[in-house]
Amino acid sequence: MNKTETAIVVGGGIGGAAAALALAKVGIKVLLLEQAHEIGEIGAGIQLGPNAFSALDSLGVGEVVRQRAVFTDHISMMDAVDGKEVVRVETGPEFQARFGGPYAVIHRVDIHDAVWQAALKNPLVSYKTATRVVDLHTYENGVEVIDEQGNRYRADVLVGCDGGKSIVRAKTLNDSPRVTGHVVYRAVVDKDDMPEDLRINAPVLWGGPRCHLVHYPLRGGAQYNLVVTFHSRKPEEWGVTDGSKEEVLSYFEGIHPRPRQMLDKPTSWRRWATADREPAASWGTGRVTLLGDAAHPVAQYMAQGACMALEDAVTLGEAIKACDGDAVKAFELYQSVRIPRTARIVWSTREMGRIYHADGVERQVRNLLWKGKGQQDFYRGMEWLYGWKEENCLEPR
Ligand SMILES: Cc1cc2nc3c(=O)[nH]c(=O)nc-3n(C[C@H](O)[C@H](O)[C@H](O)COP(=O)(O)OP(=O)(O)OC[C@H]3O[C@@H](n4cnc5c(N)ncnc54)[C@H](O)[C@@H]3O)c2cc1C
Repeated sequence: MNKTETAIVVGGGIGGAAAALALAKVGIKVLLLEQAHEIGEIGAGIQLGPNAFSALDSLGVGEVVRQRAVFTDHISMMDAVDGKEVVRVETGPEFQARFGGPYAVIHRVDIHDAVWQAALKNPLVSYKTATRVVDLHTYENGVEVIDEQGNRYRADVLVGCDGGKSIVRAKTLNDSPRVTGHVVYRAVVDKDDMPEDLRINAPVLWGGPRCHLVHYPLRGGAQYNLVVTFHSRKPEEWGVTDGSKEEVLSYFEGIHPRPRQMLDKPTSWRRWATADREPAASWGTGRVTLLGDAAHPVAQYMAQGACMALEDAVTLGEAIKACDGDAVKAFELYQSVRIPRTARIVWSTREMGRIYHADGVERQVRNLLWKGKGQQDFYRGMEWLYGWKEENCLEPR
C-alpha cells in the first residue's frame, strides 16, 4: 500500500484552506503556498446552500460559520423591469428539514477565517505567504513546485487550489478560459445606506434585460452585499479593472426605480470581467489534482462556486479514507465524482444566466416558467444540488 504522507496545496482561498484542513484531518502533512502577503478573502458576501453547511459540518467548522451567518427567510427572484416578484422559495424550517441545513449569507472574511483558523489549529498544516508558484514537475515518487524566487518544495502529491487562473491547471491541462462578456460590480454598504424597502432578509435577485442585480444582508443585517452584473457592449478580457458609476448606470437605464436605488450606493467602482471554462474530462493525472475554481471556474449565477470548493475538499478527504490513505489512487475516485457534478453546475449556471438576463418574449416565458409551482416542486428540483452530504459524497450525483 502507498500511504501518502505529504501534500502541497497551492492557494489559500476558501478552497485551499478547506483542502488543507481536509487533508490534515486524514493524517497528511500539508504545506500551503500562497502568492499574497496575507491569507484572507476580499470584502464581499457569499451565499451558502445546505450543501455547503454539510461540507462545513464535515470539516468541523459548521457551528462557527452558523454563528457568523445570516439565515435567510427565502430566496427570491424579481423582474427588474416591472418590479414584480417572479419566484419565491421559502428557506425556513421546512426547507431546512428537507435538506438538513439552512440557506445563509455570510461575509467572505468570516467564512474564510473559520476554515483557515481550524486548519491552522491542526499541527499537520504549515504555510508560506508571498510565494507565487510558477512551475511544477511530477516524478515517479513525488511532485516538486518552484516559486518565483526559485525555491523548490517537494511532497508526495499536489492539489492546485489556485483559483480561476490556476498555474497548476495551466501546467497540467493547458486549456483556455471562456470569457463570458459579463461584467460584475460589487460592494458592501452599511445598513443605514441601504434603501429601507430593500432591507430584506433574503438574497433577492432582480433579473433584467442583459443584466441583473442582487442584494442580501450580512453580519446580522448591519451590512448589505450588493452585486450588479451586465453584458458588456465591448470585448472583455478576464480580470479586474477600474470602472465607473457612469458605466454602470448606462447599463441599467430601463429598470424599475426600486432596484435602481442600489446603483447609487457603492463608493468603490472596481469591475470584474468574468470567465468560466469548459468542463474538463480530467483534472490531472497521478500525483496532481485541482480543487475549487482551479478545477471548475463558474459564473456566480447559482451562487455555488465556493460551495463546490467546500464539497470538493470533503470529497477529497473521504476518497483518501476510502483508498486507505493512498492519495494518488484517491485522486481518481475524487475526480470521478466531482467532475460530472461540477460540470452540471457550470452548464446549469450558464442556463441560469440566460434566464436571469432574458428580454422580450424570452422574459415573458421566463416569468411564466415557475407560475403555479408549489414549494415542494421547487424543493424537488433542488434535491440534486442541496441534498449533497458527506455520507453520499462518493456516489455520483
Ligand atoms: C461576484 C461573485 C459572487 C459569487 N458569489 C458566490 C456565492 O454566493 N456562493 C458561492 O458559493 N460562490 C460564489 N462565488 C464564487 C466563489 O467566490 C469562488 O468559487 C470561490 O471563492 C473560489 O475559491 P478558490 O479558493 O477555489 O479560489 P480563489 O478564491 O480564487 O483562491 C485562489 C487563491 O490562490 C492564490 N494563488 C493564485 N495563483 C497562485 C500561485 N501561482 N501561487 C500561489 N498562490 C496562488 C490566490 O492568491 C488566492 O488566494 C462568487 C463569485 C463571484 C465573482
